[in-house]
Amino acid sequence: MQSSAQNRIPESAAGGLLHIDLDALASNWRSLRDHAGGAEAAAVVKANAYGTGIEKAVPALLKAGCRTFFVAHASEAVRARAVAPDATIYVLNGLLPGSCAFFADHDVRPVLGSLSEIEEWAAFCRAQGRRFKAAIHVDTGMNRLGLTVSEGLMLKESATLEDFEPALLMSHFVSAEEKDDPLNVQQIEAFKAVRNTLPGIPASLANSSGIFLKEKPHFDLVRPGYALYGGNPTPDDANPMRPVVELEGRIVQLRWIEPGETVGYNGRWTAQNRRRVATISVGYADGYPRAASARGPSGETPLSGMAIVAGRLCPFAGNVSMDLIAIDVTEVPEGEIARGDTVTLIGGALNVDEVGRRAGTIGYEILTNLDSRYLRTYREAKS
Ligand SMILES: *Cc1c(COP(=O)(O)O)cnc(C)c1O
Repeated sequence: MQSSAQNRIPESAAGGLLHIDLDALASNWRSLRDHAGGAEAAAVVKANAYGTGIEKAVPALLKAGCRTFFVAHASEAVRARAVAPDATIYVLNGLLPGSCAFFADHDVRPVLGSLSEIEEWAAFCRAQGRRFKAAIHVDTGMNRLGLTVSEGLMLKESATLEDFEPALLMSHFVSAEEKDDPLNVQQIEAFKAVRNTLPGIPASLANSSGIFLKEKPHFDLVRPGYALYGGNPTPDDANPMRPVVELEGRIVQLRWIEPGETVGYNGRWTAQNRRRVATISVGYADGYPRAASARGPSGETPLSGMAIVAGRLCPFAGNVSMDLIAIDVTEVPEGEIARGDTVTLIGGALNVDEVGRRAGTIGYEILTNLDSRYLRTYREAKS
């Protein structure tokens, strides 16, 4: 959670400025709901609502009409519950031994991912004399969490299903963002087979990208995360979502450097001619990946980070430091930028997918690392 110190400093003193558009978030949720052909649209708000802030994102989604939320950890469920007293909240990472009472006390539902979790939840419900609700997760290919398909197919015989209320049957796609991956159809078929043996339990398979598959595996409920926050759920096509996050860094110094001089730790970037460098007050300690460092001679940097400076895309220069990034701004006319100006690190052409690609990772990791050191400003939802 962000500490309050960030929002007690004046904007003029802030090294990094994070703008979060809750109107775009709400509109992305409505658009995903409309894509889901009548299925309920939930929202995945794990990892601090993908970096945007649970306490802000959940109320905005509630206002848009969302009633079901998924988090990964119990701690996130507590935060979501505090701002959504009546919502349905599921904890994806399941039931840790001895934690049943926590779920019941907070009116939060575990996603049961193994027979032993099911047994523990059923025993707890028997002891309490109440059929508390939970989801059942069946693994159709991820090999991470969930009952095996054969365990899922046997479940209908199990007396434990009398002890608690299975409120959702779910599985998770391995690579729904690759729309032609044959695994998608295999997972849909395996999931349907289990679902057919457990009629009456609402079913859910699709994450953001799953919603857009031509097979329309929407079932009763869809679980988008990334697309809500502006990530592209259809990487082969234009992004249908509105951007939610914009990140700006403050220029703290501008200088000219001479040919042969290097920039940053370990001197990994060398000016081939006279270059102008802007140093901004954002670094890897703010969650901007060090892997976006630009190494080599100036002018021929391999895939590495970039910033938009006075409307121009400018490459990073040298290693990303803990608290600073140097940018080669030689191409920007000298009078167009000054100390104190902001540059765009996420926004415009530098959308979260592109920023991730340039750091050798995915946009998800860019979002979930968005740090609390930024001055956060929220644009409220219009309606
Ligand atoms: C994270 C997660 C989602 C959301 O996935 P996105 O790709 O971000 O839409 C849905 N379901 C489960 C089980 C998850 O872990």
